[in-house]
Amino acid sequence: MTSKKTILPFVLLLAFAVSALAQTKTENVILITFDGARTQEVFGGLDLEILKDKTKRGKVEDSTLYKKYWAATPEERRLKLLPFFWGTLMKDHGSIAGNRTLGSSVMTTNKMWFSYPGYSEILTGQAHDDVINSNDRKRNQFTSVLEFLKRKLNLSKTQVALFGSWDVFNWIGEHVEGSVTINSGHEPYELAANAETKAFSKLQTEMLSPWDSVRFDYFTVHFALEHLKKYQPRVMHIALGETDDWAHDGDYTHVLNSFTQNDQQIKQIWDFLQSSPKYKGKTSILFTTDHGRGKTIKDWTDHGEKVPEAQYIWMAFVSPDSALRSEWKNTDTIYQNQAAATLCRWLNFDYSENNPQAGKPVARLFSK
Ligand SMILES: [Zn+2]
Repeated sequence: MTSKKTILPFVLLLAFAVSALAQTKTENVILITFDGARTQEVFGGLDLEILKDKTKRGKVEDSTLYKKYWAATPEERRLKLLPFFWGTLMKDHGSIAGNRTLGSSVMTTNKMWFSYPGYSEILTGQAHDDVINSNDRKRNQFTSVLEFLKRKLNLSKTQVALFGSWDVFNWIGEHVEGSVTINSGHEPYELAANAETKAFSKLQTEMLSPWDSVRFDYFTVHFALEHLKKYQPRVMHIALGETDDWAHDGDYTHVLNSFTQNDQQIKQIWDFLQSSPKYKGKTSILFTTDHGRGKTIKDWTDHGEKVPEAQYIWMAFVSPDSALRSEWKNTDTIYQNQAAATLCRWLNFDYSENNPQAGKPVARLFSK
């Protein structure tokens, strides 16, 4: 039997524990990835060398892409490519690392420089080049940050969700199958409630994308947004894919248009977050990519260990708990394996509890 005498100290202890946790404003975290989105476009917009190489007839100045995306400076060009990201998010709400021309770099610690190893490093906080060395549909044997946070926050399955355009996320995102909500590839979105989403869920398999294992980002974002509205997840990963697939196809027009479409999709997500008392001022977002790509007209389509500079990535942070704005300048290199711990730190959890070998939270974000 429990007497009032023993309950009171317990209540006080609980109250103390709750206040000790309340060091940050963050209550929800969202990870948004853009597959193989190069630093060259993110920081500099249209790459004129690629466009010249692609222009077979006539003058480059007459091309649609030139008219749409060209400007004299990298700052103007990237604003044309990613108007919301640069014009609003990075200006007023967050900061971005990885512009090497300013002395900031972000690197993978894995030596593979392709997707599964990159996403696994992001989601588990550690590279495992000995066992994670292909894009095969194999179960990740390491606990993901999604699984860790689900346990720490005692969340239901719908409150931790990964929506991905690439179907291999079903294997990467969780080491115990079925522990979190994962919807990826051309998989129907079974939790769809409204009629439009149900129709889209069907449409995605009928309206074939050019790729066997990747659907259009449009579907991924649509499902993710409905999930956000209906289930109010506290931990979410939205994994966009088109910036990589069009590049592998050598289709620079679609690469650039995908960047711009993804930019508008981020705006849609952001606008929803700002309209919701559950998320506004309480949500931290980490943006990054799984790998870089080549930097020349010969290898911009490609990545992997044989492609120079494909280890260079970028990482951006939007958080009510970080006052940093715009681009990082002359800072220490940060690494892909720090993403998981950073997401946890925003929620006042120490990710080293799950994996002592994982990268640490990005220190600059939390220093006063
Ligand atoms: Zn990739």
